[in-house]
Amino acid sequence: MSQARQIRKLLIANRGEIACRVIRAARELGLETVQAVSEADTESLAARMADEVKLIGAPHPTKSYLNSGAILSAARDSCADAIHPGYGFLSENAGFADAVKQAGLVFIGPPGETIRIMGDKAAARAQARDAGVPTVPGSDGLVTDMDDALTLAETIGFPVMIKASAGGGGRGIRVAENAGEFRRLAPQASSEAAAAFGDSGIYVEKLIENARHVEVQVLGDGFDAVHFFERECSLQRRRQKVWEEAPSAAVSEAVRARLCSAAVDLAKSVNYRGAGTVEFLYNDATGEFYFIEMNTRIQVEHPVTEMICGTDLVVDMIRVCAGEPLGLTQDRIIRTGHAIEVRLNAEDPANNFMPFPGIVNGLRIPEGDGIRFDHMLYDGYAIPPFYDSLLGKLIVWAPDRAQAVFRLRSALDRLEIGGLPTTAPLFTALADSAEVQANAVHTGWMEAWLEQNTDKITRRRETTE
Ligand code: ADP
Ligand code: ADP
Ligand code: MG
Repeated sequence: MSQARQIRKLLIANRGEIACRVIRAARELGLETVQAVSEADTESLAARMADEVKLIGAPHPTKSYLNSGAILSAARDSCADAIHPGYGFLSENAGFADAVKQAGLVFIGPPGETIRIMGDKAAARAQARDAGVPTVPGSDGLVTDMDDALTLAETIGFPVMIKASAGGGGRGIRVAENAGEFRRLAPQASSEAAAAFGDSGIYVEKLIENARHVEVQVLGDGFDAVHFFERECSLQRRRQKVWEEAPSAAVSEAVRARLCSAAVDLAKSVNYRGAGTVEFLYNDATGEFYFIEMNTRIQVEHPVTEMICGTDLVVDMIRVCAGEPLGLTQDRIIRTGHAIEVRLNAEDPANNFMPFPGIVNGLRIPEGDGIRFDHMLYDGYAIPPFYDSLLGKLIVWAPDRAQAVFRLRSALDRLEIGGLPTTAPLFTALADSAEVQANAVHTGWMEAWLEQNTDKITRRRETTE
């Protein structure tokens, strides 16, 4: 009998669209669900969907979604036997993974010791090097001495990136163009990382210009690991992804094979268990790729992979984390067609992406072949102001990339989220741009494009209102 049968009740220690997504996967598996909520989320869609709701504290994340004691008590009180951490919050916190295990519960993620190696960016770079995976030229581990760090930066050549080892979500990164900037920014990066992530560790990496962000989805059961091909996430703002695709149209079959096997090698080198993503920067002029980090959790953009591979990664991760074998060999993972996801945030793209919480009304969700909307919305829902502004993700699939862009464009026209501005008009304008249609982009492309094209976004919004 497999261990997975022992899970009957899953507690979701997260909120928003990912909480709803996890509840859906739990239902597929016949599990009961307990939604942990802050005082701001008692009326959330996830709270309405779950079988049970447990209050874990005040709205501020440190009092609720980052409060491991309250989450463990909620699990105990509701007799849950597993905890899904979603993304962000405690999902990559090794101490939390350990505490869940010590409480006799299943953590839906890798063991604490794996998170310690792969969740810390400097440690993960060392692990990647040892596994023979190419990394961005940079420091061996953390930098502590400023003079040594500067010598290293001069050796690898400016511009360099100073990165917080514990950073995430595009935060904790600084770019230094020269020695003077380096001396000024490195201490700043370190103290900011201490404040934001409770960890002052920083390291140095060469800045790879005009690269693409390409990442590989992996799944392991602690013994074996497989990949579900790659995603491209080059359209970014402030180093955060806003539009993601699978597969990457910039990658040849030969590069794909090397990239995916590098990711699987790395996963196997730590006996990876769970769903994970190995992120790379890819230079399409030379065909070279460099490891940047691994996310030891489900990612925001996992649906594009599900659309091309016809799998449910959240179901898969629950199974393997409960101790079931993969039950899957690489040759059975087949991809077909092309998928695109766009992140709909409660922000005004025509007004410097100012966050705008509000009350949702007139919600209209596009339907049809190859259209999926993963979200947290219903008419009358008041978006709480305390959290990330992600409302949902519109995902489309089509037989090829050009048709997927077209389908996205038309689905966006039919999506209506009234009551607050969203980033939808940004994606309409992007879908209309020649560079996006030709996939002639890199990680810095969209910010430069935005400077020239904000008026297009404004106009479009006015004409659809
Ligand atoms: P993905 O890699 O899945 O696209 P993001 O980098 O956008 O994920 O992060 C997903 C969510 O998790 C965001 O809300 C982000 O702010 C948060 N997040 C990611 N890493 C961290 C971290 N180390 N500490 C705190 N929050 C994080
Ligand atoms: P996070 O944990 O915030 O996701 P990452 O290390 O994954 O941080 O980097 C986020 C983004 O920053 C990348 O997708 C890329 O656009 C940019 N970036 C990171 N490292 C480099 C680098 N060495 N050179 C150029 N861009 C980089
Ligand atoms: Mg990243």
